[in-house]
Amino acid sequence: MLLHKIDELRSVRREWAGLSVGLVPTMGALHEGHLSLIKKAKETCDKVIVSVFVNPIQFGPSEDYDKYPRTLDRDTELCQKEGVDIVFAPSPDEMYGGGRLSNDTLTYVCPPFFYVNKLCGKSRVGHFDGVCTVVLKLFNIVQPDYAFFGQKDAQQVVIVKKMVKDLNVPVEIIQCPIVREESGLALSSRNKYLSEAGKKDALVLSAILNNIKLCYNRGITDVSALKETAYGFLTDKHDLEYLEILDKNTLEEKKNADNDSIALIACRVDGVRLIDNMYLGG
Ligand code: AMP
Repeated sequence: MLLHKIDELRSVRREWAGLSVGLVPTMGALHEGHLSLIKKAKETCDKVIVSVFVNPIQFGPSEDYDKYPRTLDRDTELCQKEGVDIVFAPSPDEMYGGGRLSNDTLTYVCPPFFYVNKLCGKSRVGHFDGVCTVVLKLFNIVQPDYAFFGQKDAQQVVIVKKMVKDLNVPVEIIQCPIVREESGLALSSRNKYLSEAGKKDALVLSAILNNIKLCYNRGITDVSALKETAYGFLTDKHDLEYLEILDKNTLEEKKNADNDSIALIACRVDGVRLIDNMYLGG
């Protein structure tokens, strides 16, 4: 069932009293990565809602909000095949009331500076305010028991978990592993922007992470030394934005990596900003 209105969603949701409900928040252009979250939700919950909403307030002024791929018919078909109960695809006006989208006029949820002043939050100022605001709104609209997020956006899951804990939101966050192409490239809706050559150049992200993990497994724990191993992979085709090795739960910096460490990378390839990450332990 495809619904566009909050009231319609609420009235169906009311009929599900006593059943467990899972929410998979997405921006659409669904791929196997999204489908893995949907499959996990189907295994876990009686009812599954997938939201498809390209959230304007999480995009910066020079980012790709207008050209972000919008494929709702195909997304709805894929969801139907997976047995999703509701695809919720509100318009920006339905979500934000048609006024000016700014924190002068709207209530925003602002996650702590420590969590946003690094990794993607450093270059995408205000991005995680937009993410937390829309995610909390979706939680309030859907009132799910479980919500499913991908490790692909590792900083996002840590921040959403923190918001849920700090604001006592009654939902359990389930994190799902990264789905990759056979080549190693992490699936992303933005991979559609890559040329064939760009797709090859983009393999550097997973290659760097795999190599860091290999070095860690061979006994190198010094974070600076591990990060330095990346430079052999980078060419003038790669515009590295960050490469960090942090604690996977707290995003704290460490001098030495351990089994709770995560390596995270953002790199622009072919004009496309790509992110990837890998746990070093297990
Ligand atoms: P997006 O539509 O990009 O906002 O992504 C919606 C959800 O799908 C987020 O929780 C992402 O982390 C997750 N996701 C995106 N790509 C992947 C992937 N390759 N593997 C697993 N989850 C993913």
